[in-house]
Amino acid sequence: RLAKAAFGSRDDLKLSINAVEVLKRRYLLKNEARRVVETPSELFGRVARHVAQAEADYGSPAAVEEAQRRFYEMMRSLEFLPNSPTLMNAGTRLGQLSACFVIPVDDSIEGIFKALGEMARIHQTGGGTGFAFSRLRPRGDVVASTQGHASGPISFLSIFDKATEIIVQGGKRRGANMGILRCDHPDVVEFIEAKGRRGVLTNFNLSVGITDKFMRAVVNGRDFALVNPRTGRPSGRIKAGALFDMMVNAAWRTGDPGLVFLDHINRHNPTPQQGAIEATNPCGEVPLLPFESCILGSINLARMVAEGRPRRAAATVDWDKLRDRVHWGVRFLDDVIDVNRYPLESIADVTRRNRKIGLGVMGFADMLIRLGIAYDSPQAVTFARRLMRFIHTESLNASAQLARDRGAFPAFRRSIHAQGGRRLRNATVNTIAPTGTISIIAGCSSGIEPLFAVSFVRHVLSGTRLFEVNPWFERIARERGFYSRQMLADVAASGSLTNVKGIPPDVKRLFVTTFDVPARQHLEIQAAFQKHTDNAVSKTINLPADATVDGVREIYLAAHRLRCKGITIYRYGSKSEQVLSMGEPN
Ligand code: ADP
Repeated sequence: RLAKAAFGSRDDLKLSINAVEVLKRRYLLKNEARRVVETPSELFGRVARHVAQAEADYGSPAAVEEAQRRFYEMMRSLEFLPNSPTLMNAGTRLGQLSACFVIPVDDSIEGIFKALGEMARIHQTGGGTGFAFSRLRPRGDVVASTQGHASGPISFLSIFDKATEIIVQGGKRRGANMGILRCDHPDVVEFIEAKGRRGVLTNFNLSVGITDKFMRAVVNGRDFALVNPRTGRPSGRIKAGALFDMMVNAAWRTGDPGLVFLDHINRHNPTPQQGAIEATNPCGEVPLLPFESCILGSINLARMVAEGRPRRAAATVDWDKLRDRVHWGVRFLDDVIDVNRYPLESIADVTRRNRKIGLGVMGFADMLIRLGIAYDSPQAVTFARRLMRFIHTESLNASAQLARDRGAFPAFRRSIHAQGGRRLRNATVNTIAPTGTISIIAGCSSGIEPLFAVSFVRHVLSGTRLFEVNPWFERIARERGFYSRQMLADVAASGSLTNVKGIPPDVKRLFVTTFDVPARQHLEIQAAFQKHTDNAVSKTINLPADATVDGVREIYLAAHRLRCKGITIYRYGSKSEQVLSMGEPN
């Protein structure tokens, strides 16, 4: 089941079949006849070589070589992977390496279609785009030039959606978008209901931009003014609680809209003198200024563990190794900013000015299993906070070291960091990404999510279905002597261990799966990571099919109280297309 089977003696990387499948389809370079012309190791070599070129501006040829070697080893050992566009495009003609972009949308036909064109350019290169549509005048408002009526932000959203559908990124994948509308926009009700029918706006995640004022009005049962962005004047009042209930109901039905807490985001905006943040990237983990982009990379926590003695003590975190990979990870991402080829000049400007990077983690659930901590225990929350505090501190140390060697980011002096007195190379350093694809390549659990299932069928890319068993479960089952084909088949049929005989209770406890984790615990884990993450955290609060509307309301309220930057829920079965599904026969 190793890559060897697929690449012969040319590669000795231990990749899963799923990983090889994904790499072949989308990541490994192909020739004109569409034949794969590189091995996974060669891919990592290409990326390392390209990114390390940045080092030539700051150090000796020996330093360039060392960086290249470290980057290569870190990727090849699957300890660290950068976001997909870096893996796909480094060292190619396209050369666009960032995953996340935010594009402003101005209130004019010209402005809207300019943003649409910019989106198209970004999608072509594999990036995802976020937009706030809050500046657009509401539906039915006056249009001076034509004496007509405006069609409103929601009608324009569908044009962006349609254009996304048509541009398949470099022949590889379809683009992803985030659409945001402020809670005080007159069309907010229409926005909340926009994804109510199946099959509409499928290339968009939608989130309502929430203000503290609105949340106060919800909690205190008050009215709330809607404001026309064109005139700045109130255009009506609505009961805040009723509006909030609409959001909650729609989310319960369809998963959309999520919420983004704009005031909280802007309290942490590192460069407020450059304007307010009004949007995030598609999955919500990176709040960005208009025309800003961000490059992400994730450390595989499953590989940051020091073995315990077999059958005895649980493993422990290898803190020294983790510190080392954090430092090299920050350096890698900072280098990417220099060698990146930006799709637009405006994006190059803002990105180089603030040098935001987002180093994060994947394989958190795997790490917990290896440490013997159940994901749905209070210890998991305490541990998450401690782990992320360490990563954040070390990321800042690494960025400060780079600032000494290479200079602070150009906008540093007018950033919030200048008051802290510590020069930094990067306006932000950490982000928890979903790691949807790179976690498959690394063969670990995605982001900070719990296991989806102990055994399941994965729909990799259109049409392909693959059967997977969690490798840590298989290993423990063998070590503790309860491994059997029948047991695995039973687990695969239900997806979870709960009702399968012959599995010791402590193992059942450890392999808790996402729909068995209480919603509140999902949220506590998100908040724990957010506490020490300067960008944001991508997390889906998975709810079982029978979750109630009240349950969703509780979660949305608690997310604000716990100072999350956003919140997204998903109730099992509430969308027709699911990437992963449980209990399907192989
Ligand atoms: P990956 O594992 O492929 O590196 P993630 O699942 O971590 O990507 O997503 C990180 C970010 O990358 C997303 O929030 C989004 O900005 C961008 N992204 C992910 N998938 C897509 C896609 N299909 N099209 C465009 N952008 C995407």
